[in-house]
Amino acid sequence: MAKGFQKLGQKVFPTPIAATSVRFKNRPPCIYDGWCDAGCPIGSLANPLVTYLPEAEAAGAKFHADCDVRNFEIDQNGRVTAIIYADSAGRLTCVRATTFILAAGAIHNVRLLLSSPGRNGEALGNENNLLGKYFGSHFIANTHGLFKEDTEPYMGLSTGTLMSYDRWRPDSGNPFGTIAWGIGPAVKPNDFMGIAIARPELFGRALDDFMRKATHHIALANGICEAEFTKASRIELTGGKDAEGRAVARIVYEATEEAMAMWRRAIQKGVAAMRAAGAEDAWASPNPAVAHALGGTIMGDDPASSVTDSYGRLHAAANVVVAGSSLFPSGGSAGPTFTILALARRTVLKMTADPEAFR
Ligand code: SF4
Repeated sequence: MAKGFQKLGQKVFPTPIAATSVRFKNRPPCIYDGWCDAGCPIGSLANPLVTYLPEAEAAGAKFHADCDVRNFEIDQNGRVTAIIYADSAGRLTCVRATTFILAAGAIHNVRLLLSSPGRNGEALGNENNLLGKYFGSHFIANTHGLFKEDTEPYMGLSTGTLMSYDRWRPDSGNPFGTIAWGIGPAVKPNDFMGIAIARPELFGRALDDFMRKATHHIALANGICEAEFTKASRIELTGGKDAEGRAVARIVYEATEEAMAMWRRAIQKGVAAMRAAGAEDAWASPNPAVAHALGGTIMGDDPASSVTDSYGRLHAAANVVVAGSSLFPSGGSAGPTFTILALARRTVLKMTADPEAFR
């Protein structure tokens, strides 16, 4: 597959992966069994459960599992003074603090803020009516090939072993942006990038025959197309409530003609790379997969055109710090994880050096 992409003139390189290759801080080395997107059962993959949480706990942090923050409380100056949360039995508790960090993922970050009244009756952080706006997501071109050789598709990593950037240039042929290719990810039978969904038009015996062959001969390359953020794409409240009485949020997403053109360009490239790699058959999934929730509390210097500053502090209340991909005002084509971590670390370092700036 590397040769296939190279024949199209693209550079191919090993994917940077936050999994250990040797035993490291009680984490065992990766065994390349391809369950990363299920959470890595052995703890080799870096995620907060095996990295920051044990360290925070050892440093004195207390965790309250199965608790659900319902809203913020503010004083007459608009400063947040407390959160109200419900425990697993539905009991409500009020917690007062000087600084609050909201790190509930893009959609719930927005839902929680939209559910919390701000100073002038509008939702907290929504003075400029931008809260929830500029939501973005990546269109993904899943391209498949069937090879004569045994490709061992069940092995490897969910993200792919190799990467390639099809970067935007005036002569690149890409409508507006870059395509990041994940090459050779592990392919499981029923995953969201799995074997069964690779041929959604097949049923019964035909699907069975295909899956038996693909289990040993399929290969996948997924092209993450640069995300486009428009004001019309948004997270908003529906006006309805769920069984717990919480406001329900929904995503309204505008698939622009440019974004669809990027996806069509990616499937054309991916299928060409599969053929150049020697696949006996090559095809693309019929629709874009959509991955990564980005934006909704976008950062910026100007309070008139953003929701937070670059440290994630709400322009409306500096003692509420938003963390995560909801801060992204643009999305590039790379997966967002490393940028999320870098931003969080930058904020923590600033908070440690200057705690007064977050009160
Ligand atoms: S392949 Fe993924 S799930 Fe398996 S050990 Fe490595 S990081 Fe963990």
